[in-house]
Amino acid sequence: MKVAIVAGTRPEVVKLAPVRAALGARPGFEPFWISTEQQSALNSQTLETLGIVPDMRLAPPADDRSLGSRFAQVMDQLDTALGEVRPDLVVVQGDTSSTAAGAMAAFARRIPIAHVEAGLRTFNLATPFPEEGWRCVVGQLADLHFAPTGLAAENLARQGVGADRIFVTGNTGVDSVRLTAAGIAPEPLAPGMRRILVTLHRRENWNSSLEQVLDALLDIRDHVPDVEIVFVAHANPALRQRVFARLLGESRIRIVGPLEYPDFLALLKSCVLVLSDSGGVQEEAPVFGVPVLVLRESTERMEAVNAGVARLVGVGRAGVAAETCRLLTHEGQRQVMARALSPFGDGYAAERIAEVLTRYQATSLAAGRSARLNAG
Ligand code: UDP
Repeated sequence: MKVAIVAGTRPEVVKLAPVRAALGARPGFEPFWISTEQQSALNSQTLETLGIVPDMRLAPPADDRSLGSRFAQVMDQLDTALGEVRPDLVVVQGDTSSTAAGAMAAFARRIPIAHVEAGLRTFNLATPFPEEGWRCVVGQLADLHFAPTGLAAENLARQGVGADRIFVTGNTGVDSVRLTAAGIAPEPLAPGMRRILVTLHRRENWNSSLEQVLDALLDIRDHVPDVEIVFVAHANPALRQRVFARLLGESRIRIVGPLEYPDFLALLKSCVLVLSDSGGVQEEAPVFGVPVLVLRESTERMEAVNAGVARLVGVGRAGVAAETCRLLTHEGQRQVMARALSPFGDGYAAERIAEVLTRYQATSLAAGRSARLNAG
């Protein structure tokens, strides 16, 4: 069974690498990695770190084009690619433009679709934008839905997906943490200091929210004398420029990144707290017992909030600073959130996905045989 794995961003590479490995280890599967190059630099960095050589690389979509135009470029190339590769199944992950374009291109060519990390919803198409829209589209088109949690499975059922097509597997991002982080030591820290890690990159925070958060970081630094703040910057040049303009040269604040995935995990392991709008980071930090303050008004990953290891703090300067300072000055309150648990999976999601696909392959082969017999 030839399985085209479509990915083009850092989180897709992190979360589909274990699926590729699990399928590659089973007889009868031929994984074929199609790289859409949506986030050209981050995608390449992560592919290299995880030792993946794509079987096919598309031309990166033009940076200066609109979201719709970039989407159309990816979709057009994927259509040609799927026509050449002729896979039996297309696997997409999450909620990026590549995810939606991969699913739509497969649908148009009548190729079955499996969606990894299916069922995440805020039920608000405006946040996160465009991700909520993309994953709703894929939710309508996919044949197999690999939901990371029971909550995600319920969301799919609410949207009319049949129970026989939903499989609760855990999130494959936790598999990557398990496979990568075991041998990694936390990044060293000066004696007597505590470290917090910050990431902020999502499209809905590209407005003045970014400066609000950056100012909150300066407030936190001023109020907590033993804190070191590490801002892990995204590759996006406009965002980087704004972060550097506000934070460069400030004492006890460092700007780093984009980091290689193992280095990022080492840094995450060394922190007492993380402030982030990233989806993947909300899933990874609880594995290490690092509390997460989510820099968003809502999240499609309520499992961590419900488990008490993450909290939504929005992006207002006062709220972000107050909540962070409260946890840094009341260690008991921080400890309550610092339980190492993994609401998003046990690190064996890819194995479960491979198991389902093995059964699916057997059923498809049997169906194909009986169709041939009937035709004959
Ligand atoms: N990550 C990384 N290097 C960095 C920052 C993040 O490897 O400098 C990893 C992180 O461990 C997680 C993923 O990138 O697995 C999250 O990606 P991102 O925040 O870009 O996207 P999101 O998860 O919000 O879709």
